[in-house]
Amino acid sequence: MGRRLVILGAGESGTGTAILARKKGWEVFVSDLQPIKKHYKDALIHNDISWEEGRHSELTILNADEVMKSPGIPDRVPLVKAIRAKGIPVVSEIEFAGRYTNARTICITGSNGKTTTTLLTGHIMKKAGLNVGIAGNVGSSFAWQVAEQQHDVYVLEISSFQLDGMLEFRADISVLLNITPDHLDRYDHSFEKYTESKLRIMQNQTPEQYCIYCADDPVLQTKMVQKNNGPRLIPFSIAHPLKEGAWTSNDGKLNINLNTEEFNMDILELSLKGRHNIYNSMASGIAARLLDIRKEVIREGLSDFQNVEHRLEPLGFVRGIEFINDSKATNVNSTWYALESMNKPVIWIVGGQDKGNDYSGLLELVEKKVKAIVCLGKDNSRIKEVFGAIVPAIFETRTARDAVKAAYLAGAPGDVVLLSPACASFDLFENFEDRGKQFKQAVYDL
Ligand code: ADP
Repeated sequence: MGRRLVILGAGESGTGTAILARKKGWEVFVSDLQPIKKHYKDALIHNDISWEEGRHSELTILNADEVMKSPGIPDRVPLVKAIRAKGIPVVSEIEFAGRYTNARTICITGSNGKTTTTLLTGHIMKKAGLNVGIAGNVGSSFAWQVAEQQHDVYVLEISSFQLDGMLEFRADISVLLNITPDHLDRYDHSFEKYTESKLRIMQNQTPEQYCIYCADDPVLQTKMVQKNNGPRLIPFSIAHPLKEGAWTSNDGKLNINLNTEEFNMDILELSLKGRHNIYNSMASGIAARLLDIRKEVIREGLSDFQNVEHRLEPLGFVRGIEFINDSKATNVNSTWYALESMNKPVIWIVGGQDKGNDYSGLLELVEKKVKAIVCLGKDNSRIKEVFGAIVPAIFETRTARDAVKAAYLAGAPGDVVLLSPACASFDLFENFEDRGKQFKQAVYDL
């Protein structure tokens, strides 16, 4: 074919795309401004792919026929602008890899709950015996799997950054969990732009495809209108019964009604706890019903799924004080659900890199439930400013160990220490996993 693909960023998606492109006859060049991790470098070398690290060689990059940009690289970077100015298409991994598979795709997006819902949906599909690939924040990338495995169906977690580079791609089933402010620094501080990006999950879908969405979400309520040429919309709600879709009823049941077939199960049987997880379970349940998976298998899958680390992960008790690791709560909305699901006095560990957070939505819950705040961030001024008046006990720390110590000292038997930072972790930690792991270690060392 002789076409030249340049890949910016040699992480999971970049390396996966490089391997797929090479296999499909592209001339591939991978460029990363940072040092490339050994695992990825080895894979590139093994597949005879040219690469550079620690720099971007503009001339070599600007003669590409197409560029795959890793989701971590913002559009405002001068190199990306220069690529676009030359008229070179910039696509995401999903767009590129989607060209090389005919498998059915379930594409999950939202501000919160993507990883959980992706894994839960994948879990049910595996249980049903489907040959399913799961990709997103965990495991190997979509492109890598398309290159090396033959799955019949994929469950894909899709971030807004991936969506920005999707042009021709079409999901068989799209899922929109919620839209609340996050990553606005990458969208010119415009919630509208971020919302538009999320809604692209439905792009190119026609009435033969489905879009599952949360009918209780105020943003989606205004945006999701059934269009003649758009996907078939399937809502889910905790607030209202629905003729078609999923909802919860007063008798404690989760119900799904699709194509005049009914499914129901006890909410108490769901393995994931908390109101947000009822939403995630409903979304997964609908997707599974759309693939005609047996009701019994869905019921079983929704009730024996084990969630991943760092998402409201219970760590146990020390001196009667419970510890919970919700390091993945990197925005205000996810922390709202964490606080909402607490039913004991909370010592709240919060803070980090603030992405322009509006904390006002948390005030009521904090006033009601939080007895002390432990800040874990370099700059805690916003947190002190917003919550200082309602929670007088505020401590400042800069390491996970000190945060755990301070929380432990502030706590009494019957309290819960909740790490749910509402902020990114990059000011003090490598990433949210690092923050969660250091927190867990400090708790285990108490
Ligand atoms: P994502 O992949 O979108 O970041 P995760 O499943 O990793 O989502 O969860 C991120 C955080 O959001 C966790 O703290 C989790 O408890 C919380 N969360 C999960 N599902 C939802 C939801 N539907 N609405 C709000 N918060 C949620």
